[in-house]
Amino acid sequence: MNLSEFEQRIAGGGRLTADEALELYRNAPTYWLGRMADGVRRRKHPDNTVTYIIDRNVNYTNVCVARCNFCAFYREVGHSEGYVLGFDEISRKIEETRALGGIQLLLQGGHNPDLPIAWYEDLFRTVKQRFPDFKLHALSPPEVIHLSRTSKLAVPEVIARLIAAGLDSIPGGGAEILVDRVRKQLNCYTKASADEWLDVMRHAHRAGLRTTATMMYGTVETDEERLEHMLRLRDLQDETGGFTAFITWSYQPEHTERGGREATGIEYLRTLAIARLVLDNFDNLQASWVTQGGKVGQLSLAFGANDMGSVMIEENVVRAAGAAYFMDDVEIVRNVEDAGYVAKRRNMHYDILGDPFFRSHDVERMLELSTAREAGDTSVPAELMNYPARSAAGKKQRSQPPTSPVS
Ligand code: SF4
Repeated sequence: MNLSEFEQRIAGGGRLTADEALELYRNAPTYWLGRMADGVRRRKHPDNTVTYIIDRNVNYTNVCVARCNFCAFYREVGHSEGYVLGFDEISRKIEETRALGGIQLLLQGGHNPDLPIAWYEDLFRTVKQRFPDFKLHALSPPEVIHLSRTSKLAVPEVIARLIAAGLDSIPGGGAEILVDRVRKQLNCYTKASADEWLDVMRHAHRAGLRTTATMMYGTVETDEERLEHMLRLRDLQDETGGFTAFITWSYQPEHTERGGREATGIEYLRTLAIARLVLDNFDNLQASWVTQGGKVGQLSLAFGANDMGSVMIEENVVRAAGAAYFMDDVEIVRNVEDAGYVAKRRNMHYDILGDPFFRSHDVERMLELSTAREAGDTSVPAELMNYPARSAAGKKQRSQPPTSPVS
Protein backbone atom coordinates (compact mmCIF):
# COMPACT_ATOMS: atom_id res chain seq x y z
CA MET A 1 0.00 0.00 0.00
CA ASN A 2 1.51 3.28 -1.10
CA LEU A 3 0.22 5.76 1.49
CA SER A 4 1.92 8.79 -0.04
CA GLU A 5 0.07 8.20 -3.31
CA PHE A 6 -3.21 8.13 -1.39
CA GLU A 7 -2.18 11.26 0.51
CA GLN A 8 -1.77 13.19 -2.72
CA ARG A 9 -5.05 11.96 -4.15
CA ILE A 10 -7.06 12.68 -0.99
CA ALA A 11 -5.47 16.11 -0.58
CA GLY A 12 -6.40 16.91 -4.19
CA GLY A 13 -10.04 15.90 -3.63
CA GLY A 14 -9.70 12.64 -5.58
CA ARG A 15 -12.25 9.89 -5.13
CA LEU A 16 -11.52 6.49 -3.55
CA THR A 17 -12.76 3.29 -5.19
CA ALA A 18 -14.39 0.53 -3.13
CA ASP A 19 -11.21 -1.59 -3.23
CA GLU A 20 -8.99 1.31 -2.24
CA ALA A 21 -11.27 2.27 0.64
CA LEU A 22 -11.30 -1.32 1.87
CA GLU A 23 -7.50 -1.50 1.72
CA LEU A 24 -7.19 1.69 3.76
CA TYR A 25 -9.93 0.76 6.23
CA ARG A 26 -8.28 -2.57 6.95
CA ASN A 27 -4.61 -1.71 6.82
CA ALA A 28 -3.81 1.99 7.12
CA PRO A 29 -2.51 3.09 10.53
CA THR A 30 -5.17 4.72 12.70
CA TYR A 31 -3.18 7.95 13.10
CA TRP A 32 -2.87 8.17 9.31
CA LEU A 33 -6.60 7.70 8.73
CA GLY A 34 -7.26 10.41 11.31
CA ARG A 35 -4.80 12.79 9.70
CA MET A 36 -6.29 12.26 6.24
CA ALA A 37 -9.87 12.65 7.50
CA ASP A 38 -8.93 15.75 9.45
CA GLY A 39 -7.37 17.21 6.30
CA VAL A 40 -10.59 16.70 4.35
CA ARG A 41 -12.63 18.19 7.19
CA ARG A 42 -10.35 21.26 7.30
CA ARG A 43 -10.62 21.69 3.55
CA LYS A 44 -14.42 21.60 3.75
CA HIS A 45 -14.62 23.66 6.94
CA PRO A 46 -11.60 25.99 6.96
CA ASP A 47 -13.03 28.35 9.59
CA ASN A 48 -12.26 26.11 12.60
CA THR A 49 -15.93 25.95 13.55
CA VAL A 50 -17.61 22.93 15.10
CA THR A 51 -21.39 23.05 15.03
CA TYR A 52 -24.16 21.55 17.13
CA ILE A 53 -27.93 21.83 17.29
CA ILE A 54 -30.29 22.24 20.21
CA ASP A 55 -33.21 19.95 19.56
CA ARG A 56 -35.05 17.18 21.35
CA ASN A 57 -35.16 13.53 20.45
CA VAL A 58 -38.78 12.48 21.00
CA ASN A 59 -40.07 8.96 20.37
CA TYR A 60 -43.81 9.31 19.88
CA THR A 61 -44.54 5.60 20.31
CA ASN A 62 -42.57 2.51 21.29
CA VAL A 63 -45.14 0.11 19.85
CA CYS A 64 -43.64 -1.60 16.83
CA VAL A 65 -44.43 -4.53 14.59
CA ALA A 66 -41.02 -4.58 12.87
CA ARG A 67 -39.16 -6.52 15.62
CA CYS A 68 -35.60 -5.71 14.56
CA ASN A 69 -33.39 -8.03 16.59
CA PHE A 70 -30.88 -5.28 17.46
CA CYS A 71 -33.52 -3.06 19.09
CA ALA A 72 -34.13 -2.85 22.83
CA PHE A 73 -36.63 0.00 22.56
CA TYR A 74 -39.76 -1.44 21.03
CA ARG A 75 -42.75 -3.11 22.69
CA GLU A 76 -45.14 -5.42 20.88
CA VAL A 77 -48.73 -4.41 20.18
CA GLY A 78 -50.80 -4.81 23.37
CA HIS A 79 -47.74 -4.82 25.70
CA SER A 80 -48.40 -3.14 29.05
CA GLU A 81 -45.37 -0.85 28.55
CA GLY A 82 -46.45 0.27 25.06
CA TYR A 83 -47.24 3.97 24.79
CA VAL A 84 -48.31 6.67 22.35
CA LEU A 85 -47.59 10.26 23.35
CA GLY A 86 -50.45 12.74 23.26
CA PHE A 87 -50.43 15.98 21.29
CA ASP A 88 -50.39 17.93 24.57
CA GLU A 89 -47.48 15.87 25.93
CA ILE A 90 -45.50 16.54 22.77
CA SER A 91 -46.38 20.24 22.95
CA ARG A 92 -45.11 20.39 26.55
CA LYS A 93 -41.84 18.82 25.41
CA ILE A 94 -41.56 21.48 22.71
CA GLU A 95 -42.13 24.26 25.25
CA GLU A 96 -39.36 22.81 27.45
CA THR A 97 -37.09 22.51 24.41
CA ARG A 98 -37.69 26.11 23.33
CA ALA A 99 -36.85 27.33 26.82
CA LEU A 100 -33.43 25.67 26.39
CA GLY A 101 -32.89 27.34 23.01
CA GLY A 102 -34.18 24.38 21.02
CA ILE A 103 -35.49 24.83 17.49
CA GLN A 104 -36.73 21.41 16.38
CA LEU A 105 -37.89 17.94 17.33
CA LEU A 106 -36.16 14.85 16.04
CA LEU A 107 -39.36 12.84 16.03
CA GLN A 108 -39.19 9.10 15.42
CA GLY A 109 -41.03 6.06 16.70
CA GLY A 110 -42.03 2.46 16.26
CA HIS A 111 -44.14 1.06 13.46
CA ASN A 112 -47.41 1.25 15.32
CA PRO A 113 -50.25 -0.32 13.30
CA ASP A 114 -52.81 1.73 15.23
CA LEU A 115 -51.60 5.16 14.13
CA PRO A 116 -53.03 6.04 10.71
CA ILE A 117 -51.50 8.74 8.53
CA ALA A 118 -54.23 11.17 9.69
CA TRP A 119 -52.80 10.97 13.25
CA TYR A 120 -49.38 12.11 11.96
CA GLU A 121 -50.92 14.86 9.86
CA ASP A 122 -52.98 16.12 12.79
CA LEU A 123 -49.95 15.99 15.09
CA PHE A 124 -47.80 17.96 12.64
CA ARG A 125 -50.57 20.54 12.09
CA THR A 126 -51.08 20.89 15.84
CA VAL A 127 -47.36 21.51 16.36
CA LYS A 128 -47.21 24.07 13.56
CA GLN A 129 -50.32 25.88 14.80
CA ARG A 130 -48.93 26.12 18.31
CA PHE A 131 -45.27 26.74 17.37
CA PRO A 132 -45.13 28.09 13.78
CA ASP A 133 -41.33 28.48 13.66
CA PHE A 134 -40.50 25.17 15.29
CA LYS A 135 -39.06 22.53 12.93
CA LEU A 136 -40.10 18.89 12.54
CA HIS A 137 -37.19 16.63 11.58
CA ALA A 138 -39.36 13.56 11.54
CA LEU A 139 -40.01 9.99 10.42
CA SER A 140 -37.12 7.93 9.14
CA PRO A 141 -37.54 6.11 5.79
CA PRO A 142 -38.87 2.86 7.34
CA GLU A 143 -41.57 4.88 9.14
CA VAL A 144 -42.52 6.52 5.84
CA ILE A 145 -42.70 3.05 4.23
CA HIS A 146 -44.81 1.80 7.14
CA LEU A 147 -47.21 4.71 6.55
CA SER A 148 -47.22 3.98 2.82
CA ARG A 149 -48.26 0.40 3.54
CA THR A 150 -50.92 1.17 6.16
CA SER A 151 -52.42 4.04 4.13
CA LYS A 152 -52.06 2.24 0.76
CA LEU A 153 -50.53 5.42 -0.65
CA ALA A 154 -47.35 5.55 -2.71
CA VAL A 155 -44.26 6.88 -0.91
CA PRO A 156 -44.19 10.21 -2.86
CA GLU A 157 -47.81 10.80 -1.89
CA VAL A 158 -47.11 10.06 1.78
CA ILE A 159 -44.19 12.49 1.69
CA ALA A 160 -46.32 15.16 -0.03
CA ARG A 161 -49.06 14.82 2.60
CA LEU A 162 -46.56 14.99 5.46
CA ILE A 163 -44.94 18.08 3.95
CA ALA A 164 -48.35 19.70 3.60
CA ALA A 165 -48.97 18.98 7.28
CA GLY A 166 -45.66 20.49 8.40
CA LEU A 167 -42.77 18.04 7.87
CA ASP A 168 -39.51 19.97 7.44
CA SER A 169 -36.89 17.26 6.96
CA ILE A 170 -36.32 13.52 7.32
CA PRO A 171 -33.79 11.86 9.65
CA GLY A 172 -31.64 9.08 8.26
CA GLY A 173 -32.57 6.44 10.82
CA GLY A 174 -33.35 2.84 9.98
CA ALA A 175 -30.52 2.53 7.48
CA GLU A 176 -28.48 0.15 9.69
CA ILE A 177 -26.38 -1.36 6.86
CA LEU A 178 -27.78 -0.87 3.37
CA VAL A 179 -27.07 -4.41 2.23
CA ASP A 180 -29.98 -6.85 2.09
CA ARG A 181 -27.97 -9.88 3.30
CA VAL A 182 -27.30 -7.98 6.52
CA ARG A 183 -30.83 -6.61 6.77
CA LYS A 184 -32.30 -10.11 6.57
CA GLN A 185 -30.10 -11.26 9.44
CA LEU A 186 -31.07 -8.24 11.55
CA ASN A 187 -34.75 -8.84 10.80
CA CYS A 188 -35.06 -5.37 9.35
CA TYR A 189 -35.32 -6.33 5.67
CA THR A 190 -39.13 -6.35 5.64
CA LYS A 191 -39.38 -2.92 7.26
CA ALA A 192 -37.25 -1.55 4.42
CA SER A 193 -34.87 -3.19 1.98
CA ALA A 194 -31.73 -1.25 1.08
CA ASP A 195 -33.32 -0.08 -2.18
CA GLU A 196 -36.52 0.96 -0.41
CA TRP A 197 -34.62 3.04 2.18
CA LEU A 198 -32.69 4.81 -0.56
CA ASP A 199 -35.81 5.31 -2.63
CA VAL A 200 -37.60 7.13 0.22
CA MET A 201 -34.63 9.46 0.45
CA ARG A 202 -34.59 9.93 -3.33
CA HIS A 203 -38.28 10.91 -3.27
CA ALA A 204 -37.76 13.17 -0.25
CA HIS A 205 -34.89 14.98 -1.97
CA ARG A 206 -36.94 15.34 -5.16
CA ALA A 207 -39.74 16.83 -3.06
CA GLY A 208 -37.30 19.44 -1.82
CA LEU A 209 -36.58 18.01 1.64
CA ARG A 210 -33.07 17.74 3.01
CA THR A 211 -32.29 14.59 4.99
CA THR A 212 -29.47 13.02 6.93
CA ALA A 213 -27.91 9.58 6.41
CA THR A 214 -26.81 7.12 9.08
CA MET A 215 -25.00 3.82 9.49
CA MET A 216 -25.16 1.43 12.43
CA TYR A 217 -22.24 -0.97 12.26
CA GLY A 218 -20.99 -3.79 14.46
CA THR A 219 -23.53 -6.59 14.04
CA VAL A 220 -23.10 -9.16 11.28
CA GLU A 221 -21.75 -7.08 8.43
CA THR A 222 -18.35 -7.43 6.83
CA ASP A 223 -15.94 -4.57 6.19
CA GLU A 224 -16.91 -4.76 2.51
CA GLU A 225 -20.56 -4.32 3.43
CA ARG A 226 -19.83 -1.22 5.54
CA LEU A 227 -18.13 0.28 2.53
CA GLU A 228 -20.90 -0.83 0.19
CA HIS A 229 -23.28 1.09 2.49
CA MET A 230 -21.16 4.23 2.23
CA LEU A 231 -20.82 3.91 -1.54
CA ARG A 232 -24.57 3.57 -2.01
CA LEU A 233 -25.02 6.79 -0.01
CA ARG A 234 -22.30 8.48 -2.07
CA ASP A 235 -24.07 7.44 -5.30
CA LEU A 236 -27.40 8.85 -4.15
CA GLN A 237 -25.73 12.04 -2.98
CA ASP A 238 -24.18 12.39 -6.47
CA GLU A 239 -27.65 12.01 -7.92
CA THR A 240 -29.66 14.32 -5.62
CA GLY A 241 -27.33 16.28 -3.34
CA GLY A 242 -30.04 16.07 -0.68
CA PHE A 243 -28.09 14.73 2.30
CA THR A 244 -26.91 17.31 4.79
CA ALA A 245 -24.88 14.99 7.00
CA PHE A 246 -23.70 11.47 7.76
CA ILE A 247 -23.81 9.96 11.22
CA THR A 248 -22.38 6.56 12.14
CA TRP A 249 -22.55 4.71 15.44
CA SER A 250 -21.82 1.28 16.79
CA TYR A 251 -24.51 -1.26 17.60
CA GLN A 252 -25.54 -1.08 21.27
CA PRO A 253 -26.16 -4.68 22.34
CA GLU A 254 -27.60 -4.57 25.88
CA HIS A 255 -31.15 -5.84 26.35
CA THR A 256 -31.46 -6.74 22.67
CA GLU A 257 -32.56 -10.10 21.26
CA ARG A 258 -29.33 -10.24 19.25
CA GLY A 259 -26.94 -9.53 22.12
CA GLY A 260 -23.19 -9.61 21.51
CA ARG A 261 -20.47 -7.06 22.15
CA GLU A 262 -20.04 -3.43 21.27
CA ALA A 263 -17.31 -2.32 18.86
CA THR A 264 -14.37 -0.48 20.43
CA GLY A 265 -13.52 3.21 20.33
CA ILE A 266 -10.71 2.70 17.82
CA GLU A 267 -13.06 0.86 15.50
CA TYR A 268 -15.44 3.81 15.76
CA LEU A 269 -12.73 6.35 14.97
CA ARG A 270 -11.45 4.31 12.01
CA THR A 271 -14.99 3.93 10.67
CA LEU A 272 -15.67 7.65 11.04
CA ALA A 273 -12.39 8.52 9.34
CA ILE A 274 -12.91 6.20 6.37
CA ALA A 275 -16.44 7.62 6.01
CA ARG A 276 -14.96 11.12 5.74
CA LEU A 277 -12.64 9.88 2.97
CA VAL A 278 -15.27 7.86 1.07
CA LEU A 279 -18.16 10.32 1.41
CA ASP A 280 -16.39 13.08 -0.43
CA ASN A 281 -19.71 14.65 -1.43
CA PHE A 282 -21.00 14.99 2.16
CA ASP A 283 -20.19 18.28 3.85
CA ASN A 284 -20.96 17.29 7.42
CA LEU A 285 -20.11 14.35 9.62
CA GLN A 286 -21.47 14.16 13.15
CA ALA A 287 -19.67 12.80 16.20
CA SER A 288 -21.81 10.16 17.86
CA TRP A 289 -20.93 10.97 21.46
CA VAL A 290 -24.38 9.62 22.41
CA THR A 291 -23.09 6.09 21.78
CA GLN A 292 -19.33 6.59 22.19
CA GLY A 293 -19.29 8.90 25.22
CA GLY A 294 -18.04 12.46 25.48
CA LYS A 295 -14.34 11.65 25.38
CA VAL A 296 -14.42 9.61 22.17
CA GLY A 297 -16.96 12.11 20.85
CA GLN A 298 -14.41 14.85 21.38
CA LEU A 299 -11.70 12.77 19.68
CA SER A 300 -14.03 12.39 16.70
CA LEU A 301 -13.25 16.01 15.90
CA ALA A 302 -9.73 14.88 15.00
CA PHE A 303 -11.05 11.97 12.86
CA GLY A 304 -13.25 13.80 10.38
CA ALA A 305 -16.27 15.02 12.35
CA ASN A 306 -17.16 18.71 12.16
CA ASP A 307 -20.37 18.57 14.16
CA MET A 308 -21.30 17.43 17.66
CA GLY A 309 -24.88 16.52 16.78
CA SER A 310 -27.49 17.54 19.26
CA VAL A 311 -27.55 18.41 22.91
CA MET A 312 -29.35 15.55 24.60
CA ILE A 313 -32.53 16.63 26.34
CA GLU A 314 -34.33 13.33 26.00
CA GLU A 315 -33.22 9.91 24.83
CA ASN A 316 -35.04 6.58 24.87
CA VAL A 317 -33.67 4.29 22.17
CA VAL A 318 -29.93 4.15 22.86
CA ARG A 319 -30.54 4.20 26.62
CA ALA A 320 -32.78 1.11 26.29
CA ALA A 321 -29.72 -0.66 24.84
CA GLY A 322 -27.41 0.31 27.66
CA ALA A 323 -25.80 3.68 26.78
CA ALA A 324 -26.90 6.85 28.60
CA TYR A 325 -24.30 9.48 27.79
CA PHE A 326 -25.50 12.98 28.32
CA MET A 327 -24.23 16.46 27.44
CA ASP A 328 -26.05 19.75 27.60
CA ASP A 329 -25.18 22.99 25.79
CA VAL A 330 -22.48 23.90 28.33
CA GLU A 331 -20.79 20.50 28.19
CA ILE A 332 -20.81 20.22 24.39
CA VAL A 333 -19.23 23.65 24.10
CA ARG A 334 -16.63 22.79 26.76
CA ASN A 335 -15.59 19.73 24.75
CA VAL A 336 -15.51 21.64 21.45
CA GLU A 337 -13.48 24.54 22.80
CA ASP A 338 -11.10 22.28 24.72
CA ALA A 339 -10.32 20.57 21.40
CA GLY A 340 -9.37 23.95 19.91
CA TYR A 341 -12.47 24.77 17.89
CA VAL A 342 -15.09 27.52 17.90
CA ALA A 343 -18.55 26.22 18.85
CA LYS A 344 -21.56 27.51 16.92
CA ARG A 345 -25.24 26.62 17.03
CA ARG A 346 -26.84 25.53 13.75
CA ASN A 347 -30.13 24.38 12.28
CA MET A 348 -30.81 21.17 10.34
CA HIS A 349 -29.53 22.79 7.14
CA TYR A 350 -26.26 23.62 8.90
CA ASP A 351 -26.92 27.35 8.69
CA ILE A 352 -25.09 29.00 11.59
CA LEU A 353 -27.56 30.43 14.12
CA GLY A 354 -25.12 31.95 16.56
CA ASP A 355 -22.91 31.47 19.57
CA PRO A 356 -23.73 29.02 22.38
CA PHE A 357 -27.18 29.72 23.80
CA PHE A 358 -26.15 29.67 27.46
CA ARG A 359 -23.73 32.57 26.88
CA SER A 360 -26.59 34.95 26.13
CA HIS A 361 -29.50 33.39 28.04
CA ASP A 362 -30.02 32.46 31.63
CA VAL A 363 -30.72 28.71 31.26
CA GLU A 364 -30.57 26.08 33.97
CA ARG A 365 -28.03 23.30 33.56
CA MET A 366 -29.62 19.99 32.61
CA LEU A 367 -28.54 17.40 35.12
CA GLU A 368 -30.28 14.33 33.73
CA LEU A 369 -31.93 13.04 30.58
CA SER A 370 -35.68 13.20 30.21
CA THR A 371 -37.57 10.13 29.06
CA ALA A 372 -40.58 9.78 26.78
CA ARG A 373 -42.71 9.31 29.88
CA GLU A 374 -42.37 8.94 33.62
CA ALA A 375 -41.99 5.28 34.61
CA GLY A 376 -45.35 3.67 35.19
CA ASP A 377 -47.31 6.28 33.22
CA THR A 378 -49.66 4.19 31.09
CA SER A 379 -52.09 6.97 30.21
CA VAL A 380 -53.79 6.90 26.82
CA PRO A 381 -54.15 10.29 25.08
CA ALA A 382 -57.74 11.34 24.53
CA GLU A 383 -57.28 12.24 20.85
CA LEU A 384 -56.28 8.66 20.03
CA MET A 385 -59.97 7.78 20.28
CA ASN A 386 -60.51 9.83 17.11
CA TYR A 387 -58.48 7.43 14.96
CA PRO A 388 -59.38 3.90 13.93
CA ALA A 389 -57.13 1.12 15.25
CA ARG A 390 -56.13 -1.86 13.14
CA SER A 391 -54.92 -4.35 15.77
CA ALA A 392 -57.26 -6.24 18.09
CA ALA A 393 -55.46 -4.75 21.13
CA GLY A 394 -55.78 -1.25 19.67
CA LYS A 395 -59.48 -1.69 18.94
CA LYS A 396 -60.09 -2.90 22.48
CA GLN A 397 -58.15 0.01 23.98
CA ARG A 398 -60.09 2.54 21.92
CA SER A 399 -63.41 1.10 23.00
CA GLN A 400 -62.55 2.15 26.56
CA PRO A 401 -62.58 5.71 28.00
CA PRO A 402 -59.32 7.68 27.57
CA THR A 403 -57.08 8.05 30.61
CA SER A 404 -55.84 11.56 29.93
CA PRO A 405 -57.80 14.79 29.46
CA VAL A 406 -59.06 15.70 25.99
CA SER A 407 -56.68 18.20 24.44
S1 SF4 B 1 -35.42 -0.27 15.37
FE1 SF4 B 1 -37.32 0.89 14.99
S2 SF4 B 1 -38.40 -0.39 13.49
FE2 SF4 B 1 -36.87 -1.72 14.46
S3 SF4 B 1 -37.95 -2.71 16.20
FE3 SF4 B 1 -36.93 -0.85 16.99
S4 SF4 B 1 -38.51 0.70 16.89
FE4 SF4 B 1 -39.17 -0.94 15.54
